[in-house]
Amino acid sequence: MVIQPTIGDGWVSADKLNSIGKYIVFTLNEPWSLIKRRINNEPQQVVFNLDMSLENLNQLYNRFKPEKIKECTIVGIGGGSACDTAKFITWKFNQEHKLNLPLILIPSIISVDAFLCSSIAVRIGGKVRYIGKSLPQEIIIDHDLIKQAPKNLNRAGVSDTISIVSALGDWIIARDEIHEKFDPNIFNEAKHIVNELMKSREEIREVSKEGIEALVKGFYREVSLCEQWGNARPEEGSEHFLAYCLESITGAHYIHGQLIGLNILISLFLQEDAAVFSIEEIHQFFKDIKLTISPEKQNISSAQMKEALKTIKEYVQKERLHYTIYNSPRLILNEVKIQKILNFINKL
Ligand SMILES: [Zn+2]
Repeated sequence: MVIQPTIGDGWVSADKLNSIGKYIVFTLNEPWSLIKRRINNEPQQVVFNLDMSLENLNQLYNRFKPEKIKECTIVGIGGGSACDTAKFITWKFNQEHKLNLPLILIPSIISVDAFLCSSIAVRIGGKVRYIGKSLPQEIIIDHDLIKQAPKNLNRAGVSDTISIVSALGDWIIARDEIHEKFDPNIFNEAKHIVNELMKSREEIREVSKEGIEALVKGFYREVSLCEQWGNARPEEGSEHFLAYCLESITGAHYIHGQLIGLNILISLFLQEDAAVFSIEEIHQFFKDIKLTISPEKQNISSAQMKEALKTIKEYVQKERLHYTIYNSPRLILNEVKIQKILNFINKL
């Protein structure tokens, strides 16, 4: 179940911390330094963590005593890693010690939808895996805090909602080629979420108060829809899988939304008549919100993209990802086709 975030300004996040009694914070330097000077209720402990390996998270967990932590609220302040660390510690204590720790998430940036998803992303053997679930009591969207993050990162948050545009084409392909379960109501609702989001393009570009609200609303509706459907089919498809494949080849970390933006256009290009949105429409939207998508600006070389496209068909099978254009027998990724894709993206 996903909960509706509380949205406010005037540093509502600091007000919240001042009112919750004892708490432990999982955060990073930048967001914490912004909030710290605005609170008078000091936390019991502040933990800075970026290492999302299961090994490190278990070590962190062992540093806390159940009799101490059970009096505290767990608070995650930051991006994906801070929120997921707070979710992990809460989940593990609730499981192992039958506690019912309250959890509050305060995203300092809205570049991905992690703060809304109850599943916990950790790294096992270098790969992202989802373990357990932690449902926050409250999610606070504090405009004053989020506005401090770089605009291009906040704008990139658009991609975890806009990835619907290519995920829907993949769904059509799965329906037609392997008779996968399909629901026109869920499908149309997903389309509607995208169309609504695209209406706020000026506000998203400016990362204004309205822009932040449009992005958060898009996330909320997209996550709710996937929960209603039972998996991420309406939102995640070939665009995400190509990103995972490229990351596994280069080992680099990319700005998620920028890479997904590029891959969405590749998916639309390959889906051809199964594509649900036009390349022009989505490309124009990315230009309007100033989302960086060019491979060059993301430090992705032609050789790396070529390698990813050469191995993607094998990768999606090996990782048992759901059926997309990359499983389709009608897509043959030979040298000629790969060169066509590279020519296409180099012109973006
Ligand atoms: Zn994503």
